[in-house]
Amino acid sequence: MTSSIEIQSYAKINWTLDVLFKREDGYHELRTIYQTVSLHDTLTVTETEGPIQVHCADPRVPSDETNLAFKAAVMLRKAAGTIRGARIEIEKRIPVAAGLGGGSSNAAATLLALIKLWQIELTDQELFRIAASLGSDVPFFLLGGTALGVGRGEEVSPLEQIHCHHLLLVNPGFAVSTREAYESLSRLTRSEAAPIIPFALMAANGISGLPLAARNDLEEAVLAAHPEIAEVKRRLLSLGARHAQMSGSGATVFGVFDNSQAIEHAESEARAAGYWAQQVRTVDVREYQATIFQ
Ligand code: ATP
Repeated sequence: MTSSIEIQSYAKINWTLDVLFKREDGYHELRTIYQTVSLHDTLTVTETEGPIQVHCADPRVPSDETNLAFKAAVMLRKAAGTIRGARIEIEKRIPVAAGLGGGSSNAAATLLALIKLWQIELTDQELFRIAASLGSDVPFFLLGGTALGVGRGEEVSPLEQIHCHHLLLVNPGFAVSTREAYESLSRLTRSEAAPIIPFALMAANGISGLPLAARNDLEEAVLAAHPEIAEVKRRLLSLGARHAQMSGSGATVFGVFDNSQAIEHAESEARAAGYWAQQVRTVDVREYQATIFQ
């Protein structure tokens, strides 16, 4: 009998992204506040006798060993010393290379599914170490909800949860690579005295004010290189968003709206302009943990 597990792989936005300085290892030292949102891919992970296999119908997602879900399975197999196989089917809804963490989320979901399927016993420390070696955003997706990320984003801790019911994600349809975003960051405005609390959180006077006071240090440089993202932001604001901001390294912009009427209108206007647009809401840590395996 083959056993199979279905797991939801949620997208994230970054409420804040403070880039502090470039470290000696080449990574940038970050302070970010991550947030999972209701948009998700669905992974079906099936135990097999053969090798690790990944399949995704979306042509922008690799089905070979470069897929992050594939890498996650290989690393876990090695760490657990098992020779069991798996087939990972990815139903993709999260736009690719869009600043929404799709690949990282798929990697974390694969780890969680395979731990169950292969009945592996790992300490949290070991699991988070594997996740961090797969990518800076992967450990966050083991946790979900609203969380602080420090270091290169891989050291995560839960925060007081933010609830926001009317968020609109808009993607202009081109990819911005994370590397390109950091390379275009011409000046680093922060000193090496790195405060743990992100600047936007302090300015917001508490976590509940954050959706309207969020800030992303990558935005200025990425918007200068891609004026169409600035146009999306401008449109969201003119359609009634209380706040609009690029997520992660872009190109997706999120808009914070007050009510369902305003967001419905903005969603249809964005689609009419040829953009990918999707209404979402925040998924807090409790809902995240309770629903990923549903
Ligand atoms: P981040 O915000 O973490 O930088 P992102 O949302 O901008 O990530 P992803 O959707 O994770 O970007 O995709 C980045 C690249 O990773 C793509 O170019 C894609 O080819 C590759 N990739 C590898 N595995 C996956 C996966 N499972 N899903 C999506 N993309 C993947």
